[in-house]
Amino acid sequence: MSHLEPAERKGPQPRVLVVEDEDDIRTLVRYNLEQEGFRVDEARDGAGAYESIRRRLPDALVLDLMLPGMPGLELCQKLRAEAATHLLPIVMLTAKGSEVDRILGLEMGADDYIVKPFSPRELVARIRAVLRRANAQGAPAAGPVYERGRLRMDMGTYEVFVDGKQRQLCLREFELLRFFVEHPMRVYSREQLLDLVWGRDVFVEPRTVDVHVRRLRRQIERDDSKPELILTVRSVGYRFNPQALG
Ligand code: CA
Repeated sequence: MSHLEPAERKGPQPRVLVVEDEDDIRTLVRYNLEQEGFRVDEARDGAGAYESIRRRLPDALVLDLMLPGMPGLELCQKLRAEAATHLLPIVMLTAKGSEVDRILGLEMGADDYIVKPFSPRELVARIRAVLRRANAQGAPAAGPVYERGRLRMDMGTYEVFVDGKQRQLCLREFELLRFFVEHPMRVYSREQLLDLVWGRDVFVEPRTVDVHVRRLRRQIERDDSKPELILTVRSVGYRFNPQALG
């Protein structure tokens, strides 16, 4: 064993999403991360990265600044604006290394940056450092918890319990439920929910909200054919009624 520290880590090895359009660099980063025991996902552009994150939330992101389509900075800002990813550790790659890039990257929410050409070993060290910081911040017990009646939500670990039983919510369902518990009783239209929970994502239509509400009801309502928690307000939208939690 060449490294002592990571071997002590409990649970599965952290998963890193590498976002870079240059195949050589992406492959190099992947190889070095895998050598160190990380699990690696890859994306070639910002949109692909965003999709990958929605499918499976990584523990950290290596994000190249220069990407086709959605630039790295824009993706970074987008991730920072969403509840599920606003703490996701991000290490930016930049080809320029100018002061402007560095400051911009950090202002846009990157946790660290590394200048090309970089030593893979240094990149791995940076990733470990941001993961350590993130773990210290978001240690499971330290996450804020919403608890009322039969519902318990841990915002740090994304766990949801109903009547003491854990429910498997996808990221978006979790975010939607979090939005509801944080904004009880008020009525929101589908368009508002899209804006506030999904962000400005051009690929989704208002009907998506209904699909997620249906799935969420199946997970949290006593009887999803007679919802008491997420109420439909006809021809307007939805509202969350925490009183029904007991
Ligand atoms: Ca690039």
